[in-house]
Formats: sequence, structure tokens, C-alpha cells
Amino acid sequence: MENLSEKYYPGIYIHIPFCISRCSYCDFFSSTDLNSIEKYVNALIKEIELFSGTQNFTKEIDTIYLGGGTPSLLSAKQLDSILGSIHQHFNVLTNSEITLEANPGTIDLKYAQDYMNAGVNRISFGIQSFDNSELKFLNRIHTAEEAVASFNIIRSIGFDNISIDLIFGIPNQNEKIWENNLNNALLLNPEHISVYNLIYESDTKLYSDLNKNLFNIMPENLEEKLYLRTSDFFTQAGYEHYEVSNFAKPNFQARHNSKYWKHIPYYGFGPSSHSFSDGNRYRNYSNFAKYYNLIENGKLPIEEVEKLSDEEKFTEYLMLGLRSDGIDNNFIREKYNLDIEYLLNTELKYLSMYFKKDSKKIKLTPSGYFVINEIIISLIKKQT
Ligand code: SF4
Repeated sequence: MENLSEKYYPGIYIHIPFCISRCSYCDFFSSTDLNSIEKYVNALIKEIELFSGTQNFTKEIDTIYLGGGTPSLLSAKQLDSILGSIHQHFNVLTNSEITLEANPGTIDLKYAQDYMNAGVNRISFGIQSFDNSELKFLNRIHTAEEAVASFNIIRSIGFDNISIDLIFGIPNQNEKIWENNLNNALLLNPEHISVYNLIYESDTKLYSDLNKNLFNIMPENLEEKLYLRTSDFFTQAGYEHYEVSNFAKPNFQARHNSKYWKHIPYYGFGPSSHSFSDGNRYRNYSNFAKYYNLIENGKLPIEEVEKLSDEEKFTEYLMLGLRSDGIDNNFIREKYNLDIEYLLNTELKYLSMYFKKDSKKIKLTPSGYFVINEIIISLIKKQT
């Protein structure tokens, strides 16, 4: 694996597992018991403190990402104490990217100003759709109009790095509705756009409704059409399609999320959060009681440490590289005995239409992104 960790600084992920209500498609670890937020923030600060005292870690970091859940439910004081604790135990480098996920309906002018004052310089905004019937289907807490109003508030106070999320593949979504979503997204002129395919995770309301035949899932050929249209649409509008689900204006790629795709270390705090450090993956308990209990007893709430085997490293290298800025054929040939360029000219020629090449790397085209899992399976089977 390319040793990128030496060239880049780690990032910090903070999980804020609270939401006003549950979206129908969501299986993230989160609770609607908002009265526990204060208790949780105190535990989180303790976890950061414990980590800093017991781990061999790099103090210099250059990204902080507050994700959830709904981090915009934090009060300014709570956010200040979390960021204060990070500043106390880490060296947050100048020009670090500090992102806060916000949901429309949970943010007003004062909150937005407070977040900016606390040091947040990037907002990731969960709009998901500009169609009110879709938002209702997803059980989002806001309307399209409220989302636009919240976005404008954030922009008006000076945030110049805003990302929005959209979801495609919603039942009954058609090309016209999706085109309308794309146009509305562009009207907001965000610096970054994430576009996710609706997934039917078990343990969600959506999944159980599907099993009750309450709706039909979108046919795959329509999903593909919408995905390719999205890529075309935003690329023509000046965004770079730099990762399967992500589009950015020049110089606005998500620095924190890019660490996940480039195997750069990151430290996660809060239940269900993950870390990656020294070639190991760490996963925290996804359970409040266990989390609080361990923290109270002075222990880190880690449930699992996984040392990646060579085979897993190979699969990860393929997966992470192909979903973002490509893979280096020379590196993979020497290290893993797999010559992808050769295969694409011979046995796997039928896949060659999904690839493109620049001077250094082999990358997927947007059509390739859409079938990335099938491509990876075919490549793994060829490794000797
Ligand atoms: S706001 Fe986000 S984390 Fe919360 S339930 Fe909805 S999708 Fe899940």
C-alpha cells in the first residue's frame, strides 16, 4: 500500500448521535433522546482526554468532522467544549478544515453565527431532495423551502464552503423530478455536492415497508440513467466528479472524507465511530450504556481492533482507489502481482469501457463508478 500516512496529517471524527426524529432510510447509530446530549458531550470530552493519555498518536491534525446524527443540535456551548477539548489535546493546524453536519430545520441565524465563531468553516447540509413528497417519504423533518431558507442563512453569514447531500433512487422518482432536484441544487451554488443512492438497510422503516410491498424499488436501468445524468450535469456546471458519490468545485474536495479514501489515519470519537491508525482499524461500541460505562471507568470504548491482512489491504486499495482518484498499475503489479492494464486488454477486455487512464493512474469512468462492486469482484478473482 502506498505509504500516504507519512505525507499527510490525520483527521478527527466526532459522532453526535442525536436526531429530532428517525428518517425512514437511516440505520446510523443515533437516538431521539435529546435530553441526553449534555451527558453525552461530557463523556465525549472524557473520551478525547483518555485517548490523548493512552495512545501513541500524531498530535498534529488538519481536519475535524462533526457528523451524526445531527451535530447542529449541539448548543454553541457544547460545540465550544468539544472543539476546546480537541484543541487542548491535539495541535489543530492552521487552515484546518472543520466541518459540521447540519440539517435544515435545526439551524437559525444565531446558531450559524455561533458555529462560525466556534471555528467551524465548512457546513455539510442534509438537503436530500427539493421535492416535498420525497422528503415526506424519507421522513425528513423539513420541507424543501425550509432547506433553501436554511442554506441561505448559512451563506449569508459568510460560510464559503458548503456541501449539500442529495438522494437518488427514491421510489416514484422519475427523470423530471430528479432534473428538478439537480437544477435546484445548482441554483444554491454549493461548493460541494454529495449524491447518494437510496439504500434499503435492514432495520429501517423503509426496509420493512418494502417487505410489506408498500412501494416498488426503482428499476436499476433508471437508477443508472439518473446517476449518469447527475455526473454529466454537475461536470458541465464546473464540478469535478472526484469520487463515486462526490462532486466539488476546484479546490473544494472534502479534505476529511478524502482521508478515508486515501488511507490517511483518522481518529473517531463517540459510539459507533471508527478510527484508522498504524494499519489498524478500530471500532467503538454502538451502545450508549457500554459507552458511558467504559468511559466512566477510565477505559476507551473500543469494541474491535482489526489488523488488515495482506488480502484485505489489497481489496481496500482497489476499492478506495477505484472509488476516488484511481490506482497505480505499477504499484499494484509489483506489490500484488496483478497487472490490471494487461487484464483490461485481454481476459477482462469487456470491462475496459469502464476505465480511463491518465499519465499515472487507472480510473473508473462514471459508468464504471456505477458498477464498481462488480468490477472489484472481477479483479479480485484474477489476483494470483
Ligand atoms: S438526520 Fe441523518 S442521522 Fe438522523 S435519522 Fe436522519 S439520516 Fe439518520
